[in-house]
Amino acid sequence: MSKSSLKLARKWIKQADAVLVTASNGFAISEGVNLFTDNQNFRQALGNMVTKYRLPNLLSAFSYDYPHDVERFRMYGRVAEFYNYSYHASPVMQKLQGLLAGKDYLVWTSNTEGHFKQAGLPVLEVEGSWLEGICQNGDHVDLKNILHEIYQKDQAGTLTVADVPLCDICGGTVKLNLAGPDFQINQTQVDAFQNFITRNQNRKLLVLELGIGAHNQLIKAPSMQLVAGNHNSRYITINKGELNIPANLAARAIGFDADLSLALEELLTGNDLGAKIIPPQEVKGTPHEDTKLIKQIYPSYTANTLLVVSSIKKRGAWYLKL
Ligand SMILES: [Zn+2]
Repeated sequence: MSKSSLKLARKWIKQADAVLVTASNGFAISEGVNLFTDNQNFRQALGNMVTKYRLPNLLSAFSYDYPHDVERFRMYGRVAEFYNYSYHASPVMQKLQGLLAGKDYLVWTSNTEGHFKQAGLPVLEVEGSWLEGICQNGDHVDLKNILHEIYQKDQAGTLTVADVPLCDICGGTVKLNLAGPDFQINQTQVDAFQNFITRNQNRKLLVLELGIGAHNQLIKAPSMQLVAGNHNSRYITINKGELNIPANLAARAIGFDADLSLALEELLTGNDLGAKIIPPQEVKGTPHEDTKLIKQIYPSYTANTLLVVSSIKKRGAWYLKL
């Protein structure tokens, strides 16, 4: 079964006019960025700050109430240096790039480490990026180079209050532009996303879901609505131990219950490496009823697209819910 399912999945990718990649924590973890664990990367990145502030993981390091902004930016600098400054596309990123080569595609992610952007993939970062700041008056501040300079001064022992960045435009204080009460989604990215969805609304769109948990409502739910609203669309999901394929989409879905890197390797090469694959399922009863129900909720594809975009805008103001 797996071999024929793999063949079919590769055919779907080949036939697709466009690919919308949706990615969340699972993808970041496969690249060595784990927000939730005390691991070697975390300790190497933050160094003595781990014990000094008793930080259990990266997520806590971002939300910790440091005694001064210097310490906060010291932490940002160390994180950016370790995870971004010397970043080269990881093996899993390279496989994804290989799979998307020559396609019209866009990545829709809640990951905040900025790797898709660094690897040169067009992306909508719905929860922001830790390489970007926002000032108290809402101006955007690019922190990539600033954080590198902060890191260098941190290492040299010369980091002082004077190095805490202020907004170029208004002189206001700066914090990271991540999901939270002051978060402002990158409008250029939203426009590009909207254009992508609009130009592909009548074409064969493939949604390729990478490492998104079954209960993720930020991307999973609206992307499922997209697939439901476009009968030319297909859906491939990769998630080890946490596949969640909605019944109304099962006839147009293939699930890989497998490690991301392994599944992408199979999709790229066609070699069966042992991934457990769930083929498309015939919908029992009257699939027509499902279609009718979807149409009642989302009367047209355009309305559906607007719903997805407005859902992103709304969620932009949300706290990071984990
Ligand atoms: Zn400002």
